[in-house]
Amino acid sequence: MPYAYVYAPFSGSISGLNNYCGCVGGSGPHSLCTQNCNCFQSCNGWSSPVDIRTSGTTPRIFLYRSSGILSVRTCLNFSCCNGSTDNYGRVVIVELFAQYNAQCPIGAIKFGHVGSPKVTHGQVYNLAPGAVLEIGIVLPTPQPPRACYSGPHVHMERIGGETIAPGCCGPVTEGTTPIYRWYYQCL
Ligand SMILES: [Zn+2]
Repeated sequence: MPYAYVYAPFSGSISGLNNYCGCVGGSGPHSLCTQNCNCFQSCNGWSSPVDIRTSGTTPRIFLYRSSGILSVRTCLNFSCCNGSTDNYGRVVIVELFAQYNAQCPIGAIKFGHVGSPKVTHGQVYNLAPGAVLEIGIVLPTPQPPRACYSGPHVHMERIGGETIAPGCCGPVTEGTTPIYRWYYQCL
């Protein structure tokens, strides 16, 4: 009965947890992206938002996971930014499984504000050991500015598990810093 981990999708710093982080000028509660949940996942069960921002770059977003996660299933919707049907509202949900072909569910995560998605809705991906799944790209600051997206970052949430990301404003390193983990067993 091991732990499964998801690591930082790119290098940056924590700019939001359950509240926005003061180091980037934020304050107040950090809401979940739960509009338009027209996916195989319902809106229920999501928690513990984590924002990871860059200093202005727009890196690619990757799923880095521990080797016990052998397959994933992806689902795309527009549940961030109050359901805005554009890049800023786009969410990629990744269900995590401990066996190939989406068997033995572990939990799920989402990536919010995803540009140029590289995975498709409803697809199952079997992952070789060490393989990294490209999700999409971080978006630039919109012009004109939008309240839901003040600068380049990704929004994450989880179903199940626990949050082990650094605290507000702490640095994260691509593929190395754990963000979430789940304790699981396959029956
Ligand atoms: Zn966020």
